[in-house]
Amino acid sequence: MNDKKPQGGENPCQGCVMCCQYISVEIPRPDNAEDLDIAIWYLCHGHKIFVDADGWYLQVDRDCLNLKDGACDIYQTRPQVCRDYDISDCEKHNPNAYWRIFTAAKELADFIKDNPDCVVKNPNEK
Ligand code: SF4
Ligand code: SF4
Repeated sequence: MNDKKPQGGENPCQGCVMCCQYISVEIPRPDNAEDLDIAIWYLCHGHKIFVDADGWYLQVDRDCLNLKDGACDIYQTRPQVCRDYDISDCEKHNPNAYWRIFTAAKELADFIKDNPDCVVKNPNEK
């Protein structure tokens, strides 16, 4: 949830709190057995892994404790990471925000099996 407003004044975040409902932590691209094993382990715990143009991320779904009645309760003092979030690249406004999202260990294992040469390298990687 950020404070970038488009021309015209309409709040682009109106009615949306998607980016306040998870945290993400960058992880290594699983291009070796050890990193792949750890990625599978994350998925076995019910977490997600997404890949975008910046890299690979573990996604842990959990509402921010400051989310109250569909709005940020500490908007004026919210963390910098919330202010910096690029709305033009967010999951609501950019349908291509993710290159891939894995929600189960089998999905990632099957993807690796089907793409043994790419070793899950994101072709859009910067
Ligand atoms: S996902 Fe996008 S539109 Fe939704 S709250 Fe976050 S920045 Fe705003
Ligand atoms: S601090 Fe506010 S803007 Fe940041 S994730 Fe929590 S509810 Fe969203």
